[in-house]
Amino acid sequence: PWPPEAPARVAVGALRLTPTKPDWSGELALGERPGEAGARVALSGFLDGALGGYAEDRDQTSRETTSRLSSHLRFGEISARRIAAAAAGAAEARPQIRRHVEKFLAELGWRDFAAALLFARPDLATRPLRPEFERFAFRRDESGFRAWSRGETGYPIVDAGMRQLWRTGYMHNRVRMIAASFLVKHLLIDWRRGEEWFWDTLCDADPASNPMGWQWVAGSGADAAPYFRIFNPVLQAEKFDPDGSYVRRWVPELGQLEAPHVRAPWQAPAGGLARAGVVLGKTYPHPIVDHAAARARALAAFAETRSAAPAS
Ligand SMILES: Cc1cc2nc3c(=O)[nH]c(=O)nc-3n(C[C@H](O)[C@H](O)[C@H](O)COP(=O)(O)OP(=O)(O)OC[C@H]3O[C@@H](n4cnc5c(N)ncnc54)[C@H](O)[C@@H]3O)c2cc1C
Repeated sequence: PWPPEAPARVAVGALRLTPTKPDWSGELALGERPGEAGARVALSGFLDGALGGYAEDRDQTSRETTSRLSSHLRFGEISARRIAAAAAGAAEARPQIRRHVEKFLAELGWRDFAAALLFARPDLATRPLRPEFERFAFRRDESGFRAWSRGETGYPIVDAGMRQLWRTGYMHNRVRMIAASFLVKHLLIDWRRGEEWFWDTLCDADPASNPMGWQWVAGSGADAAPYFRIFNPVLQAEKFDPDGSYVRRWVPELGQLEAPHVRAPWQAPAGGLARAGVVLGKTYPHPIVDHAAARARALAAFAETRSAAPAS
């Protein structure tokens, strides 16, 4: 019930919700303007810009190649229907971008698919969709989790993503996949811990899309993502951050390293590291796991879970 006397209005600023000592919120939602007006600006900017190359460019991490509409959608500042109608209108007006629009609409469709999944399985964030994953023997590894969440794994693309997330509340979709895969496959840490961390730190944290993304990465989800797909963080960086500028932006201590060494500093010659002011183990960590060994360990663990699965 409405109170008998309406409370006095309070300006949001007066609530002093933003931190001051220190003010770590400065970069939150960097480049985004919360609210309906901001959502419309983001949409029209996207329609006139990145949409024209979306199908090819959306996985590139160093440029703004996606719509950045996720937080606006999350908070109901714009509807998916409005976005879809506007994108379809752009394809009518510019038939040459039709395939980009179709790709974009398909991505938007994943959001609805996640909502449908959550409707069918309200426990999406806590229970694997594939029952055999219930007994997966995840490792307890507090120092691994700490290194991952702080962006100190020694794998620059993973660290860049985790630091972008911490500082801005956003992470590029491709890097979400790489960072999530690293936690679940390289460290064998329970996907639910990663899901919780993303839930706490993403501005677009969504009760459906977030657990769906994590279950997809873990291989326990609704689609056919094979459990044996284990992203190689160095190769992923080579493809999706070819010149290293995404890593250099978020991991400034590697800022003087050129590609290819900026994505695998442990492979750089000693002289190159010295010139770039990088001292492994001091200014930037050694990799906390060896990729080949971690991959073999994950494959064995996942294969065991599958072989123990009851016939269905
Ligand atoms: C582990 C993991 C966790 C994720 N958690 C979230 C989350 O909490 N909230 C969230 O909105 N998205 C989540 N995603 C999906 C995706 O990363 C973001 O939607 C996307 O990066 C948002 O940026 P954008 O708006 O520029 O995307 P665009 O590429 O411009 O896509 C347009 C819109 O389509 C929807 N969309 C795109 N990809 C997906 C997807 N894979 N699943 C569901 N919807 C999608 C989003 O609403 C997005 O705003 C997650 C993905 C992974 C791998």
